[in-house]
Amino acid sequence: CGIVGYIGNDNVTPILLKGLEKLEYRGYDSAGIAVKTDESLEVVREKGRIADLTEKVGENLAGHTGIGHTRWATHGEPSVKNAHPQQSNDGQFTLVHNGVIENYRQLKEEYLSDVEFTSDTDTEVIVELINYFSKQGQDTENAFNSTLRLLEGSYALGLMDKDIDGTIFVAKNKSPLLVGLGDTFNVITSDAMAMLGLTNEFVELMDGEIVILKQDSVSIINPDGNEVERDSYTAEIDA
Ligand code: GLU
Repeated sequence: CGIVGYIGNDNVTPILLKGLEKLEYRGYDSAGIAVKTDESLEVVREKGRIADLTEKVGENLAGHTGIGHTRWATHGEPSVKNAHPQQSNDGQFTLVHNGVIENYRQLKEEYLSDVEFTSDTDTEVIVELINYFSKQGQDTENAFNSTLRLLEGSYALGLMDKDIDGTIFVAKNKSPLLVGLGDTFNVITSDAMAMLGLTNEFVELMDGEIVILKQDSVSIINPDGNEVERDSYTAEIDA
């Protein structure tokens, strides 16, 4: 299972699909991508191989911001509806998640008893919680933060808000996730190897941090709400 994300000048679709192919070795049963186009935020998901997803995506999906996911099912059988990205029921938020949320049932009962769920995943609870806090008036960063404070378990997360262009919200806990840096783009990836065709300059993330990723900036915010400076490192290429 794995996560990729990209914001930059080039068309994000082939970059995500190629990145997911490079994560194939980690094992998965389904995959999907979300791409912000000029008009909307499009999600394509498919069971089986990345090649099958690529075929379903076709030739016409283009944009400059996107996230992708390979799923290793833990909650809910492998299927299109359980594949990621998962979206809030109003389409406002789109999320990819690797890991397991141990308290998702309690959270669902406590906060989301009115929400109609469309998948059997623990992940959908996360994206609906973000939506819940957003509808209470919190901005996306705060809604994301409020949600993270409630989660027990492991996660690497990439989040898009359909009304915030050129931004991916990122966080991790006990699951790997890196930021990769480029001159005209920035990326996220579970494994540096998946992005070595694009960059070998990476920034490590720590559990509990939130990252606000844009094409020309990477803001890392620690649990106290303060911005953190962290040097990048160069990954050794032996591909
Ligand atoms: N627990 C999530 C699910 O079953 C994510 C699985 C994964 O890490 O791919 O959908």
